[in-house]
Amino acid sequence: MQKTIETSAPEPAVVCSRVELQLLTTLQCNLRCSYCSLGEGDVLASQRNATYTPDQLAAFIEKHFGDREVYITLYGGEPTLNTEFGLALMRRFPLLRFNMQTNGTLLSTLPDDFLGRLSNIMVSIDGGEKVTDDTRGRGVYRRVIENVTAIRPRMPGTITARITWWSGGTSFEDIDGLTGHFDYVYFQFAQERSAYPPGSVDSRKAVLTKLIERFFEGDRLYPIVPVMGAVRNKLVPSRLNELSAGMTQCRVSTNLINVMPDGKVYPCPDMLYAGELLQGDVVENWVRRSPLQPTPDIPCRECGAYHFCSGNCMKNLYLAYVKKNDEWRTKVTEPICSLIRFMGEEIDRHDPAAWYARMPLGERRKLVEEHVYEFCEVMP
Ligand code: SF4
Ligand code: SF4
Repeated sequence: MQKTIETSAPEPAVVCSRVELQLLTTLQCNLRCSYCSLGEGDVLASQRNATYTPDQLAAFIEKHFGDREVYITLYGGEPTLNTEFGLALMRRFPLLRFNMQTNGTLLSTLPDDFLGRLSNIMVSIDGGEKVTDDTRGRGVYRRVIENVTAIRPRMPGTITARITWWSGGTSFEDIDGLTGHFDYVYFQFAQERSAYPPGSVDSRKAVLTKLIERFFEGDRLYPIVPVMGAVRNKLVPSRLNELSAGMTQCRVSTNLINVMPDGKVYPCPDMLYAGELLQGDVVENWVRRSPLQPTPDIPCRECGAYHFCSGNCMKNLYLAYVKKNDEWRTKVTEPICSLIRFMGEEIDRHDPAAWYARMPLGERRKLVEEHVYEFCEVMP
């Protein structure tokens, strides 16, 4: 009997020369944020601390990503509740860069050898004091700001605010005020059905107009990441291709590997409940290409914002156009897309090429090369 010979090379699990391993080192958390994405499917607290070993992770990296630059994001739950595992990883991988996503409430308790290995910390905060305390708990805003101030002298890396832009009541001053405490401010529009009541898209647009106006003033880079990223993509599109192969900039289609405490791998940290998206397993040492890929149902290629947005959030697109969840499409995906298109129009009004031409070289370099783009989703 004639045998069939497989000649095609296996599809690579990741594209791009860098791979972000986002490790949910624990699913425990010390806060109960009202909109926690891990609440969906009861993921939060469904497991406790990581049960695979740093050596198992090393074997996984060696087998699948040995020829790439790997960097690690400590994620959760709340990763400051499992610093022991974080430190074990830092010792096992002395050459890798580390990032951490945290709620910021325990930052000042972290030891120097832990803080000293972090290239960046993403600190969740929801804008101003009122909205942060309403969603995260009373006193959280002040505690986070105090902790960030306290660790500054012990933290050689950068500290980035990560805003979930939850409320139509969030003001320009709420976001601008955080630039006084953080190196960068990233915001993401809330992915929640109740976040866009009538009028709230317009109030966000009014804030975006001011943020973008402020961005184009003066000769220093205004460190609001989604505006930086959108301007960079318009001016230097090759960076988008380099960092995420021209696909969604959260890297969920290309080079982001989320590892659950039990070692299971999924592409998107907000859809760990979706068994059909299982992508690999650190303990069993296998991984495949992300199942969250653009499909013909997804309308991005015809969108006027595609050249700088490149598909924003694949979760929103997947739920809206692949799963055909019309409620999600009309209440979440479409309002967010309209805000992104608006951002692009506002940026164009300010003639970004002329602005870039008059910026000092050091500020241009920051716009194009800042490492913060590798640690967050870039687009909102
Ligand atoms: S704005 Fe929406 S439709 Fe347009 S490219 Fe971005 S995600 Fe796709
Ligand atoms: S931006 Fe990317 S990682 Fe974040 S929820 Fe959307 S698909 Fe998932």
